[in-house]
Formats: sequence, C-alpha cells, structure tokens
Amino acid sequence: MSYRQALLVDDDPVFRALAEDMVLDAGVQEVETAQDGIEALAKLDGGFTPDLLVCDLNMPAHDGVSLIRSLSERRFPGKVLIISGEESAVIETVAKLAKMQSLNIIGSIRKPLSMEALEAVLVRAEPAQAQAKAKVALEPAKPSLLDAAIDRGALHPFFQAKVSMADGRITGAEALARIAVTQTEYANPVPYVELAERNNRIDDLTFVLTRIVALHTKGFFVGGKPLPVSINISPLSLTRLNFPDMMANAVAGVGVPASQITLEVTETHFLDYGPDALDIFARLRIKGFGLSIDDFGTGASNIDRLHKYPFTELKIDQSFTRSALTDSFARASVEMSVRLAKEMGLKIVAEGVETEEMWRFLADLGIDEAQGFLMAKPMPPADFLELLARGVPWVQAARRA
Ligand code: C2E
Ligand code: CA
Ligand code: CA
Repeated sequence: MSYRQALLVDDDPVFRALAEDMVLDAGVQEVETAQDGIEALAKLDGGFTPDLLVCDLNMPAHDGVSLIRSLSERRFPGKVLIISGEESAVIETVAKLAKMQSLNIIGSIRKPLSMEALEAVLVRAEPAQAQAKAKVALEPAKPSLLDAAIDRGALHPFFQAKVSMADGRITGAEALARIAVTQTEYANPVPYVELAERNNRIDDLTFVLTRIVALHTKGFFVGGKPLPVSINISPLSLTRLNFPDMMANAVAGVGVPASQITLEVTETHFLDYGPDALDIFARLRIKGFGLSIDDFGTGASNIDRLHKYPFTELKIDQSFTRSALTDSFARASVEMSVRLAKEMGLKIVAEGVETEEMWRFLADLGIDEAQGFLMAKPMPPADFLELLARGVPWVQAARRA
C-alpha cells in the first residue's frame, strides 16, 4: 500500500495506540497522532501533510464534525477515514456531509476496529489515483505568479457553456479564471483565488478578470442575441462598499451592459457575508447585474441566504448533481433546491452534468440550464466562439439519435 503518512485523531489513548499499530501494519509508512481536532489542525498548519487522516467523531474538544469542516475549509487534499463508536447512521450522515464539502472520504468504520475492515477500506481507495489528484490540489500557488496574473496579463478566462435543458441551445457561459504558467500551460484558479483572498488582492483579481471577460463577451452572440455571461466573485468582496461601482465601471468601460453579466457568489468558505452584503447586493441588482448563489447546498446557511438576499439564479453544486442518481439524500437536496428556486422565481442551473442519465434526471425535474463536461468543458475564448457557431455536439448527437 502506498500511503506515506497518516494522521490519527482520537481522544482515547488506548485506541490511539492500537489503531496506530494497525495503520502501520496496513502498510502506511509513518503515523502521527493527535488527541483532538485542535491538535490535528495544529499539526497540519505546522506543515505536516499526511495523505491519510483517520478520525474519530466523538471527542471532547473540537469533535470530528468540526474537524471535518475545518479540513474542508483548508481544502485538505488527502484521504479521510472515519472510525467511530457512533451508530452507523450517524457515521454515514457525517461521511455524506464531508463528501459534500468536497473531502475525499474513503470510508467509515464502526468501532471496534479490525485489521480486515481497515485493509478493505485502504485497498479499495486506490492510492495511485488519489496521489495524482492530491498533486494538483497541493500545487503551491506562487505569489509572484499571482501578481503577474493580476498586474501583467497572465490571467485568462476560459468559458464553459451553459445549455438550455428545454431545447439544448447554448444560453450562457461561465467565465473561469486560468493562470498562465507557460505559453501553453494554465494553472487551476483555486489556489490563486485563495492566495488573493488571503493577500487582500481578490478585488483586483475580480476587476481585472471582469474587464477581460467583458471584452470577450462583446463578441459572443447566439441567434443574433448577446450571450449572457457569468463571472465568479468571492464573498469577501461583499465587504467593500464601492464594489458595485467598480464592477459597473469595469463592464461599462468596455461597453457591455451589466444586465448581460451574472455574478456567481462562490462559496469557497463557510463565511458569513458580513453586515454590508445586503447593501452591496441591492446596488449590484440596481445596476443590472444578475446574482447567482453558487455551490448551493454546501454552505450551512444557504436557505437563509436565499431569503435574505436578492438572488436571481440558483446553482446546484456539482457534488449533489454527481450523487443524485445513487444517493437518496443528494437527490432529495436537488429536488428541494428545485422547489425552492421555482417558488422564489429563480433561474435554476445544475453544474457538473457528466452523463446522459444525469441530464435526463435533471431535465425531468424542470431545471432550466445545465453545465458540465457532457456538453462542454471550459475552453479558451477562440474555441468557445467556434462552439457558439457550431452548437453543442452532444445535444446534436442526442437529437439525431
Ligand atoms: P465553480 O464556480 O463551482 O466552477 C465550476 C467548476 O466545476 C469549474 O472548475 C469547472 O471546470 C468545473 N466543472 C464544470 N463542469 C464539470 C463537470 O461536468 N465535471 C466536473 N468534475 N467538473 C466540472 P474550475 O474552473 O477549476 O474552477 C474551480 C473554482 O474556482 C470555481 O468553482 C470557483 O469557485 C473558483 N473560480 C474560478 N474562477 C474564478 C474567478 O474568476 N474568481 C473567483 N473568485 N473564483 C473563481
Ligand atoms: Ca461558479
Ligand atoms: Ca460549484
């Protein structure tokens, strides 16, 4: 087994010692232990990067559920295994929650722990694949590249089509930031967005990207009509009172009406929006921007937010779309989101649509637009222009069939 390092979190010293031996016997090269979430996070923040984290749920200080939330906020790239004495239903619920927070949960085991159960879970989890994934996520964002991206034109939008579920036509696009690493290679935006958020540069990133996106948007038409385009914004921008003016200037300067642009508030953390959010949202709407609540279902207070703020669109997170066909909780979440959105008169978009089966399930629910690899991946502007001219190949093939 090719796990390098594991972190074992449990408040019971006897269990810790026992489990440590088993994890080592299962082939993990090195094991560190922590007695609760606080100690575990201190180790992770101190630079320990295990590829496996084994955690108990019921611990007196910073329990397993809080630890899972903190891991998700830090985008912990390793695998997580839950071992607990709680009832199976409780363990499964927490495992689902963790999956929806994009953690890589490889399984849950009810105590007492046996060597067979541990090995079964570890073998099933195919370490080779996970390491490839972790490498991308771990790729450190370089501050110099961030500055280059914002100040010197290394920031590029890719565009991903949004497709009408009623007639298969392209009805919009989401702009997704890419950072040019070389002439032909682009880095994933997530570490850069986080770096920009930590370094107080997120608004600069948003304004620069918005201007470039608006320039491309001017050339996007479908059936002779200007194409609606979405841009991601960080919840941190909802604390800056002149944000609506800056955004309005960014698009107006290029000659694109704000009404052609929807701002997706992307939930990379479970932050409160802050006291000025309502003010900012209201003025963004008055200026004409659409507002989309992104990653719907992952944050704890999404439903409150829907009521409180003037959203025009709801985007179902891809973790729900992906598991809706196999997991009854995810399906119920999708169905509930659709009902809520319809009740409130919002446009509803499903992201992460990867299979025809998913498409059919979502179309039957009456979802307005779908976005996902089945129809089109995010692509550079020139390719997107071609796609606009051609239409989405999958939809055309499905029509011919
Ligand atoms: P997001 O807003 O949820 O964007 C959707 C992500 O899902 C994109 O990842 C997209 O490539 C991916 N995706 C789309 N369809 C599928 C599919 O069918 N299957 C799978 N597995 N994935 C799919 P990407 O481009 O890596 O962006 C990741 C996140 O980075 C975005 O998530 C958003 O939170 C953030 N982000 C991207 N661009 C910006 C930006 O300009 N500003 C800010 N603040 N955040 C951005
Ligand atoms: Ca988005
Ligand atoms: Ca999302």
